[in-house]
Amino acid sequence: MTDVINFTAERLSEAELVELIEYHNRRYWELGEPEISDSRYDELMRALAKFDPEHPLLTAVYAPAVASLGSVRLTEPMLSLNKAYSFEKILDWAQKIKRFANELFLIEPKYDGISVCFDGKTLITRGAGEEGEDISDKIELIELETKNYVGKLNQPARGELLIRNDDFHNIYSRIVKSGGGHYKNSRNAVGGIVGLKDTALEMMKLQKAKLTLVDYSLISYPVNFDELKEQWEDILSQLRELPYPQDGVVIKIADENYAHSLGNTAHHPRGAIAYKFGGDEDEDTPNTILRNVEWTAGKNCLTPVATFDPLDITGTTIKRATLHNAKFIETNDIQIGDAIRVIRAGDVIPKISARGKVNGKDRTSALISHCPFCNSKLVRKGPELCCVSADCKETILQRLLAAIRNFGIEHLGEPTLRKMMEIGRVRHLGDLFELTAKDILQLEGFATKSAANLIEEIQKARIVNDYQVLAALNLPAVGINIAKAILTHFSLQELPNVTVEQLAAIQMSHKIGQKESFRVLGMIRAKAIHQELVLNTVFLEELLSAVKVIRSAGGEKLPTICFTGKMPEKRSFYEKLARSAGYEPVSEANSSLGLLVAMDVNENSTKLKNARKNNVKIVSLDEFLKEIVPAEDNAASQVEVGETMDLF
Ligand SMILES: [Zn+2]
Repeated sequence: MTDVINFTAERLSEAELVELIEYHNRRYWELGEPEISDSRYDELMRALAKFDPEHPLLTAVYAPAVASLGSVRLTEPMLSLNKAYSFEKILDWAQKIKRFANELFLIEPKYDGISVCFDGKTLITRGAGEEGEDISDKIELIELETKNYVGKLNQPARGELLIRNDDFHNIYSRIVKSGGGHYKNSRNAVGGIVGLKDTALEMMKLQKAKLTLVDYSLISYPVNFDELKEQWEDILSQLRELPYPQDGVVIKIADENYAHSLGNTAHHPRGAIAYKFGGDEDEDTPNTILRNVEWTAGKNCLTPVATFDPLDITGTTIKRATLHNAKFIETNDIQIGDAIRVIRAGDVIPKISARGKVNGKDRTSALISHCPFCNSKLVRKGPELCCVSADCKETILQRLLAAIRNFGIEHLGEPTLRKMMEIGRVRHLGDLFELTAKDILQLEGFATKSAANLIEEIQKARIVNDYQVLAALNLPAVGINIAKAILTHFSLQELPNVTVEQLAAIQMSHKIGQKESFRVLGMIRAKAIHQELVLNTVFLEELLSAVKVIRSAGGEKLPTICFTGKMPEKRSFYEKLARSAGYEPVSEANSSLGLLVAMDVNENSTKLKNARKNNVKIVSLDEFLKEIVPAEDNAASQVEVGETMDLF
């Protein structure tokens, strides 16, 4: 690769420019660790524009990696591999693609686990094309196997997350899965564990569950075309002896530059092909018949899930699989009654790969026009069908759930929230903050202590940063960086009235060392954000009336505040409160301090003495709380929280 820092943009080829720009995009947007200044970055962009003024990179929209666990946009969407079900097809492909007799191919196992990448900090799945999931909370369970190293996951790696066959035999026979019982096979186990969080995940850690990340570079057989023919069976039998679950073999061009130059078809990279073990040898054979499509609600759109005649794939009975989105159904012309093909390759969740060749006799559309939950007319947004009704209970539930997670309330899961909504106790986010321990105790599965804990967690989440609120709206491409940039120019209250042009002109600061430079948000992102903001006005208002928002630093300096004395709640609690009231908490009571809050103003602590000496304003905790919590707000805050806490 070209020197990523000391380059001369004018001397680089188009391909080199693209490579560098993509590299620095990743440093900036995904890792949050830029290595070059904005002006150096702009040199690359200008040079690329000379080659191709229409190059998509010049106008691309990026999203920064999310700080919390959640979806992560991938710079390089992972394409699935073209598949061959016979060795003849492999040879055909290799024969066509080789440039000379000694063209080198690599034969590698096609692991049956979850494809992930680890950059040294964040572990991300690469399962769903353009978006991956941050699963860093599983790192503790993972052992890395890469060249010359087996041990803790402590270095960047790209590979497959799986459970070794021997580990499955030895460890998983004693591990009790969430909900009881044992895992049926290692594929189920790895998928199950990756899907766990919070307490359920802690249980896995306590039981010493182990996952293995096999780096893709670990096992790779280099062969030329002749050797491919001669050694195929031999290599296959060696691969099958490896202690890793596999569902096939990957054959790829060894020369990365050549492979790269071949590019991709609409669906597959041309420089590699997968050979599938067993399964359906005859591609024309339909797998099963699509019987029905259920649409499940998400925070933004509806996802189609197919139900079909049961299938046995690699030892697991499957009756349901995702149909991805409305566009997939259209593109593949899939209708209820049709034959469909279901795969589980490399992915834990089964998915429909395509429609079989046979049309159903009585085909009925798999698409819907109205929301299955509220019956309002659905709206198409890109590939997705979305319910945009403000009254849709299911969408409200999913959005509430997303907001709840965004605000860091971890112990309130979907079933509990659903129950609360069903009994009418929670309709809006605001209702959540008025819940009492008594309300929670009425629900199944809660004891006095767990109910009190949940209430405490909810009340603490009442004070949120403004960018958390903005992130909770799930606007396209708005992560923490952009949210903060937007909020230094406009308050949340102002957002619904901000125009596209105003958004587009927002400058994002980009600091490297002492130097700070700026880049504007741009029209493409601004339009996308604006469109969603308009649709989310009601939800935003609801959020704002429910929580106490800490305003991001908007330029002017905030007055400082300091606390002294032993107070009923943790210091961090009062500091958060002070921030929400527009103060900047500091730890020292020097002459520049704006306000000192004391538990007992008559005490003689160093802070109090300093404050008196410097004529700093001193108030008691009670006075401070009265001052910052206005009367009406105070009423709303008089939440019955049982005897475990007394907030205000
Ligand atoms: Zn609806």
